[in-house]
Amino acid sequence: MRLWALAVSTVLLAATALASDGPRALAGPPVVTDAAPDVPMAEHAENVASYTLRAKLDPVAHTVHGGGTITWRNASSKPVSELWMHLYLNAFKNQSSVFMRAPIGGFRGNRIPTDWGSIDLKKLVLVDGEKRDDLLGGVELKRPGDEDETDARIPLPREVEPGEQITLEVEWVDKLPTIVERTGYDGSFHMVGQWFPKIAKLEADGTFAHFPFHHLGEFYSDFGTYDVTIDVPDGFIVGATGPVVETKRESGRLVQRHVQSDIHDFAWTAWDKFQVRKETILGVDVTVLAPPGYDDHVERELETMRFALPHFGARYGKYPYPVLTLVHPPASASEAGGMEYPTLITTGQPSWLPRGLWFVETVTIHEFGHQYFYGLAASNEDAWPFLDEGLNSYAENEAMRAWKGPGSGLDFAGLAIGDVEAQSERARHFGHDEKIAQGAGTFATGSAYGALVYSRAAALLETIARAYGKEKMDRALGVYMRKFRFKHPTPKDLIATIRDEIGPGAAENLHAGLLEKGWVDYAITQTSSHPSRSAAGMFDRDGKRETISPDKTLNPNRYDGYVLVVRRGTLRFPVEIELVSTDGSRSRVKWDGQTESYRIPYSGSSALRAAVVDPDERILLDQHPENDFATAPGHPTAGAPRVLERGMFWAATLLGGLTP
Ligand SMILES: [Zn+2]
Repeated sequence: MRLWALAVSTVLLAATALASDGPRALAGPPVVTDAAPDVPMAEHAENVASYTLRAKLDPVAHTVHGGGTITWRNASSKPVSELWMHLYLNAFKNQSSVFMRAPIGGFRGNRIPTDWGSIDLKKLVLVDGEKRDDLLGGVELKRPGDEDETDARIPLPREVEPGEQITLEVEWVDKLPTIVERTGYDGSFHMVGQWFPKIAKLEADGTFAHFPFHHLGEFYSDFGTYDVTIDVPDGFIVGATGPVVETKRESGRLVQRHVQSDIHDFAWTAWDKFQVRKETILGVDVTVLAPPGYDDHVERELETMRFALPHFGARYGKYPYPVLTLVHPPASASEAGGMEYPTLITTGQPSWLPRGLWFVETVTIHEFGHQYFYGLAASNEDAWPFLDEGLNSYAENEAMRAWKGPGSGLDFAGLAIGDVEAQSERARHFGHDEKIAQGAGTFATGSAYGALVYSRAAALLETIARAYGKEKMDRALGVYMRKFRFKHPTPKDLIATIRDEIGPGAAENLHAGLLEKGWVDYAITQTSSHPSRSAAGMFDRDGKRETISPDKTLNPNRYDGYVLVVRRGTLRFPVEIELVSTDGSRSRVKWDGQTESYRIPYSGSSALRAAVVDPDERILLDQHPENDFATAPGHPTAGAPRVLERGMFWAATLLGGLTP
């Protein structure tokens, strides 16, 4: 999903404080080169859980009658005697669900549906050759003392051996809620996500990664093939995961069949007012479904995809599916926007937004990025949400900057603000009281989840890229996404890839930043500059004793001094320190950042005027950028660098109470 609040805070930041002093030129046409051409990439996923389903929509009652078969293979090393099944729509059944009773905490909507939603299983049969076992009666929807019904346990009549495949026949009825976050209806608009009974992912050790639907948590599933036939009243336009393989019109109904392999979820939408636009980009059939009157938005979303498909393909490996559908929900259903499913994303933002406020583009890039960081990697989003949203936010920032240059977040009315700079201000403002790498359900608030999982994770990755070299980071994430395509990578896999491709220092910083609440503050704490003097005193030279008095020691036109730079916190990035002399000359000193302080001697033909640590602003995580600059005693602070950043820092501080 997209962090909507970030867009809002970006505008407010701009309006509050800022005048850009950065370069304004837009980047030229991006040069797209493959980030890791030598790294092989799986062509297909392992088929573990496949669904052949039919779904019939009643757009007046807002129900979906579903049925079909699920084939599921025990891909673990242990026999299993139960299944766990996600029944996500029950999150909207009542206020006692885990989803509804969690504190909302300023993230992902505040809505309680005005019409509740549910999923009721009507049939669940294990088909074993001629034998049929009815499992419905044994389904355990709830745990003792808990009303939540999103995480069902299904005891099996016998063990399923490793490698064995079983078939289940299912029937169910969905009652869609009014739009709540990412699913439901608004009038005749229907966004049908998390709508079918879905088997939890079985881990290699034979345990199910099952969990109730938490409002900050997303999903985790095995790959398979989805063959879904959607049946709606004629006159509705359907958008869904995967390509259409069959369309029929009969008895006043439209019946549309979609088939796609190598995916782990399926979503669809139906509305009788969609405007449809299609374009083939890089061999992918892109369809945009939008409300009437959004022609300019649709064009901007297609412009975004013309950039994003080649850009992400080069960075993270070719997009492997034949289709991509962008769904722009109607304004009254904006809660359905900013969400990702395999080959289908929902976009958003109001129709009046002018170019320059790049929020339409940003949300489109972000949701498309999830085709990689949610879709193809398929990490456990419940246990490690940063592997999805954090990496994807970094990829969003990287892509927006490659496309739009320094004003990649906003470039409007004389202001230019980068997407990544806004993101890092938010990360810095929020601080580091909790770990980035923790489960969705364990964050104290939605604000903490948003700031850490999205912004701080992205700022940490951007800091590593700037400190060790962006080409290395491009290559590292390129390797990670190719090597672990369809493989459900974990934080260990990410850190190991960073170690292999960038080095142990980068890996240690990533580990500490993700798992140990790592932080850093570089500061110039002392500067000194004075006329150079040679030594006074008695000296025995050439058999004679010579006494030099202090008033004879001045070295004309020479100055000495020092700069003391300190590193606070637990992250250790290499930095540069720039020394500025009164004659305007500048020199740079490199520091590996491994110790806690570094005393840099100064010697020059004019006095030291000022010093700045990290002059190129590589350490976006630096907790206090305002102490990165200091003047030597006797020099005014005029001309301090980082006008923009300081403005943003204070603006972010002021906005602390306004934005999550
Ligand atoms: Zn997202």
